Formats: sequence, C-alpha cells, structure tokens
Amino acid sequence: MIQVTRIEDLRNHLLPLRKSGRRIALVPTMGYLHEGHMALVDAARAANDVVVASVFVNPLQFGPNEDYAKYPRDLQRDAALLEQHGCDVLFAPSVEEMYPKPMATYVEVPSLSTPLCGRTRPGHFRGVATVVTKLFHIVQPDTAYFGQKDGQQVAVIRRMVEDLNMPIDIVAVPIVREPDGLAKSSRNIYLTPEERPHATVLYRALQRGLELLQSGERRPDVVRAAMADLVSSEPGVRLDYAEAVSMDTLTPPERLHGATMLAIAAYVGGARLIDNVQVDVQDNQVHLL
Ligand code: AMP
Repeated sequence: MIQVTRIEDLRNHLLPLRKSGRRIALVPTMGYLHEGHMALVDAARAANDVVVASVFVNPLQFGPNEDYAKYPRDLQRDAALLEQHGCDVLFAPSVEEMYPKPMATYVEVPSLSTPLCGRTRPGHFRGVATVVTKLFHIVQPDTAYFGQKDGQQVAVIRRMVEDLNMPIDIVAVPIVREPDGLAKSSRNIYLTPEERPHATVLYRALQRGLELLQSGERRPDVVRAAMADLVSSEPGVRLDYAEAVSMDTLTPPERLHGATMLAIAAYVGGARLIDNVQVDVQDNQVHLL
C-alpha cells in the first residue's frame, strides 16, 4: 500500500491505472478505523482492481459546538489496518491540502439534509456532500463504498450522484455491530464503561420498532413513539430523535409502505450515537434490506 497526502501525487498515481482500464474504488472515511470501515474495504477489494481509502476528518461537516477538535485520530493504526485488508492507496490529506482557501462553492441536497440528523446538525450534510464531491473529483473512482450505518448520508450521496450525473456506482454496505447490537462507531470510544451498556438502547429500540412493523403496525407515529419511549426511559441517555420514514423522502409517510428506515439518534454521556434499520414494508410482510 502507498500512502499519499498530496492531491497531485494521488492523481499522478491513479492516471495510468485508470487509462489502462483498472476499476478504481473509493472508500471515504474519517479514520480511527474499525470493523465497520473494514467491511467497506473488504467489499471494495472483492469487486475492484484498485482500492483507495481516504482518511480525512472533514471540518466542513462539523458544527461549531461539535467534536471536530477531539475526534479520535490514529493514522498509523489506520494505515496498518488498511494494509492488512489489501487496500492499495491511503489518501490522507491535510486540511490545508483539501481547503487551501475558504470554500466559495458547496454541494447541497436540502430536501434530504434537513430531516433527521439535519435538525440538530444544520450544515452537516452540506459539508459531507461537498467533501465527497471533492474526493470524487480527486480520485475519479468507478465506484464508492458507504456504510448503511449512516443511512441519511447514503440517501444524500445517492441523490447527489443521480441529480448531478456523477458516473460513479454507489455501494451501501450493511451495518457492522458489536455482539450486543451496538453499531460500531469511532465515537464509541467516548463511552465510559458505565455508559457503554446503556448505549445498546438504540439497537433495542430499533428492534422494538421492527417488531411493531412485523406485527402489522403501519402508523409512523406509533412506531416512532414506541422507539422514543424506550430510548427516553434508559438511564443516562437523551433522545435526539426516533423516526420511521420513507427511504426516498426521509420523512414519515401517512402509512409505512415500501423502502422504510427506522432511525434513532441519542446522546449517551458525551457521545451522540446514531443507528438505523432499513426494511421493505409490504401489506403482510416486512423484509430487512
Ligand atoms: P466515518 O469514518 O464515521 O465517516 O465512516 C466512514 C464510512 O464507514 C461511512 O460510509 C460509514 O457509514 C461507514 N461505517 C462506519 N461505521 C460503520 C459500521 N458500523 N458498519 C458499516 N459501515 C460503517
């Protein structure tokens, strides 16, 4: 694996590979890698000739009171993990390399960026869409891999790629969880040993929502309330939102039908955690997506 920090060096490395017809995959990350990220790298490795992983903690997607400064970073460990998983190129630019001057151009998908996490994180998805667009232009991958863990992010990126005719296949990889159901996240490091058991309430609440769907409930408010009650009753946990939404709008329909996401965000101690399940809801059946 080679490690590159400069955009020009990355372009020079990738150009002949692209010209000779190699299929190039991009796995964008903010580093502090875990098995969730590695599932993306493994999926990319299995289906492409060249795997590029980026590690960049993107200041543009953090709000002023968020955890940009203290976001965990360990590039050496990340590099070792990526190498073990067969990654070809690690792109780890500095903030100055990515943003040599204040940005004057942004990419926004407002309708999909304002619900769910957008309510507490205004500007977050604009930062994500903008940095992903930059990475797409820098790497020019054939395909890019994202985790379903960030379900709203996948929806925003898919819509951006479709609307702007970006010639890139977007692959969404299922959520990797701890044995007790907690979705793996770089932010789990913020949890103290006392807080850690309470963090499973997001997963438990999603399972409760799923059970309601499986028993025939189709009213988003009823599913929402059941999940919210469970999260709110957990000691040391503060609910941000619990929602049952259509995948195409990320807003609650009158009745749940078709591609549906149950999504939860909650604060556990100092950590803001998110989780979701995605299902296809039919009249008599519910299938996990
Ligand atoms: P991050 O470094 O948190 O920005 O995540 C980089 C990519 O890894 C995103 O596409 C995430 O959705 C994905 N990812 C993070 N955690 C998980 C997980 N537990 N399972 C699957 N994908 C994940």
